[in-house]
Amino acid sequence: MENKKELRNWLDAFGLDHPLVIAGPCSAETEEQVLKIAHQLKDTDATVLRAGIWKPRTRPGNFEGVGALGLKWLQKAKEETGMLTTTEVANPHHVELALKHDVDILWIGARTTVSPFIIQEIADALKGTDKPVLIKNPVNPDLALWLGAVERMYTADIKNLGVIHRGFSSYEKSKYRNNPEWQIAIELQNKFPDLPLILDPSHIAGRRDIIFDLCQTALDLNFDGLMVETHWDPDNAWSDAKQQITPATLVQIMKDLKIRKEVS
Ligand code: PEP
Ligand code: MN
Repeated sequence: MENKKELRNWLDAFGLDHPLVIAGPCSAETEEQVLKIAHQLKDTDATVLRAGIWKPRTRPGNFEGVGALGLKWLQKAKEETGMLTTTEVANPHHVELALKHDVDILWIGARTTVSPFIIQEIADALKGTDKPVLIKNPVNPDLALWLGAVERMYTADIKNLGVIHRGFSSYEKSKYRNNPEWQIAIELQNKFPDLPLILDPSHIAGRRDIIFDLCQTALDLNFDGLMVETHWDPDNAWSDAKQQITPATLVQIMKDLKIRKEVS
């Protein structure tokens, strides 16, 4: 990609580094857990704290998130650490609550991007907002659904958009939880070169040992950021335990990554 300067507009406006690093647990579990992770991350390259509070579990019976209660924990983490916050919204009610509690960045999950009806409802609820909105790719390898979600947000005049590549499910067994299918993200990048493109290596990998390589590949492909699931005690996380890393591991990864300098 030649000139990707423009796409950094909202990253710059929000005072966010390039590459943008978003880190934090898959799920907010307790107030103590959220605050502890936030404090461990506050002096790292991570400028945005992530935590899911409404968890879209594929099968029922698993932990489905703490719900709106977690919004207060995110607010407290922001007050105590100065980190920005982000959480997943999956319907207009989530949007309303997240905006009311001043979540800084909203993300739309892979199971939501597959549904144009819900995407449209979310776009309508967000109409005209300045809050950055990050759209994960749909679970299935369908570029059109991803593009459609971006277009619906643009049409609703959502000013600060970005996309997150979190891999694509497949019935075939592979070393990935969700196959990267990099070409799909690259095609999206070519169609919308001004859109910040962020990698979620955690949901692609489903394990810890290939997070670094995925991050390096993304930076080599000129991605603009990383969203990495990070927990102070990954083995005992209430969701996605196998793929979460500690803040200390994240620091090491960031040190080892070769980060491309600005392309002008
Ligand atoms: C998550 O980020 O924890 C999550 C549920 O992700 P995805 O929508 O990519 O499965
Ligand atoms: Mn997760």
